[in-house]
Amino acid sequence: MAKYKLRIIPLGGLGEIGKNMMVIESPSEMIVIDAGQMFPEDEMYGIDLVLPDFDYVRRHKDKLKGIIITHGHEDHTGALPYLLREFNVPVYGTRLTLGLITAKLAEFGIKRPRLKEVSPEQQLRIGSLKVNFIRVCHSIPDGVGLAIETPLGYVVHTGDFKFDQTPVDGKPTEFDRFSAYSGKALVLLSDSTNAEMPGYNKTEKSVGESLRELIGKARGRVIIASFASHIHRIQQAMDAAAVDKRKIAVVGRSMINNVGIASELGYLKIPPGALVDIAETKNMPPSKVMLVSTGSQGEPMSALARMAGKSHKYVDIVPGDTVIISANPVPGNEKSVSRIIDLLFKAGADVYYKSVSDVHVSGHAAQEELKMMLNLVKPKYFIPIHGEYRHLKYHALLAEKVGIPRSNILVAENGHVLEFSAKGVKRDERVEAGMTFVDGLGVGDIGDLVIRDRQLLAQDGICVVVVTINTHTKQIIGGPDIISRGFVLEKESAELYDEAKAKVMKAISRELSLQVMDWAILRNETRSTLSRFFYERTKRRPIIIPILVEI
Ligand SMILES: [Zn+2]
Ligand SMILES: [Zn+2]
Repeated sequence: MAKYKLRIIPLGGLGEIGKNMMVIESPSEMIVIDAGQMFPEDEMYGIDLVLPDFDYVRRHKDKLKGIIITHGHEDHTGALPYLLREFNVPVYGTRLTLGLITAKLAEFGIKRPRLKEVSPEQQLRIGSLKVNFIRVCHSIPDGVGLAIETPLGYVVHTGDFKFDQTPVDGKPTEFDRFSAYSGKALVLLSDSTNAEMPGYNKTEKSVGESLRELIGKARGRVIIASFASHIHRIQQAMDAAAVDKRKIAVVGRSMINNVGIASELGYLKIPPGALVDIAETKNMPPSKVMLVSTGSQGEPMSALARMAGKSHKYVDIVPGDTVIISANPVPGNEKSVSRIIDLLFKAGADVYYKSVSDVHVSGHAAQEELKMMLNLVKPKYFIPIHGEYRHLKYHALLAEKVGIPRSNILVAENGHVLEFSAKGVKRDERVEAGMTFVDGLGVGDIGDLVIRDRQLLAQDGICVVVVTINTHTKQIIGGPDIISRGFVLEKESAELYDEAKAKVMKAISRELSLQVMDWAILRNETRSTLSRFFYERTKRRPIIIPILVEI
């Protein structure tokens, strides 16, 4: 016991919203909590997906005994296929979480994953660690928090949560279970997403009332867009549509998939006889139709974007349509969402969205709820997780306010090792925990340098200069030819190009006249001459690639 060490290592999700992954390591085993992805930022050109760098797990894979997934959101599940390709370990999750994961793993062609269903009532033994699951409310059903029993006390992990007293499925966050660890918790790891938001969240049911009101007064067709995983939101929209006997069509691949999985597993109850195919809605009176669609994040290829842009196979937005965007843009998506709202208005629709109507509440605890969690668990140590750095900082301040000593509040970053022992906590070790980029079929073959090149290309374009040189006579016998992309219009810049060619000609001739001819110097000289010249004349710095051909 005196020598027992418990290591908690965040590999993702701290200092960012997305790619959540946490390692819990005892002397004899290691478990991973969540394996999420993150959507790339605008300047990560061409990147499809960002994953946590899980090299630490790879290096200790013999110790890895399992992966626990707290809920089915992509920022907690998206990296799972990539982990399972390398380590065939059991994956633990609740029924809906595993249902969503099963579909995802099948897409990736992962055969026979070892999925183990757990329920909040049961206790799981993974090596020497005993894991208890605690039901939490969130913007997807079937989420859980964890209380992991260790010789040093419990590690309590909230997962993504809020305290909704009247949740749609009647299953509130289990206050009593969290409070059962009061005083026994070594450390609390808690969701910081809304640590800046004062007060309490409104209940999800209040959104149901707003939806009923908007759908009730709509004269034409209703199109509602939401997160495809927000099963309770979809349930409330469907229930509201059923009051007016509207038929419901589901649009968009992820919405169709998730509605299918959730209704099959009993998490979504589609009003009997209401579901129709999108093609059938064309011949129905608009006042008897509701479409449930993807695209609430402004994704350019989503069903809603295509409807708004008049490129959807079955649906064009027309005057009289009511469109409800029942979601908040995830940070980074604000611009694309407002672009779609503009398009929808231009097409003549009535559009309702978060900033003008009560059509959304968050799935993450606000300040008073976060304080309540801290007071219920009363941990010795506190680590804010799941948030950008300022969210973690704000959450730390809340913890101080409820009486956790400042020295026991650990604001950490990805890769920080927090090592607990009977003596206290040590935090001076760091492990690799950057980003792994996915682009097409490549995973991890693109590093920061490639991204930087892509940024430069996007900013000022590229210029290729080709010169053919006879090494015997030391004369230029072809070129210089300049080809550019994304720099200037070649046709209209003939003069600039002629001058550039003359400069290159002069620089190369000068080098050729020297006794010793060095190709590396020649290439460098060509590059810097052009670079200097273009910058002087255009104040732009295209990437310059000299191709010197020797004959
Ligand atoms: Zn979540
Ligand atoms: Zn999350």
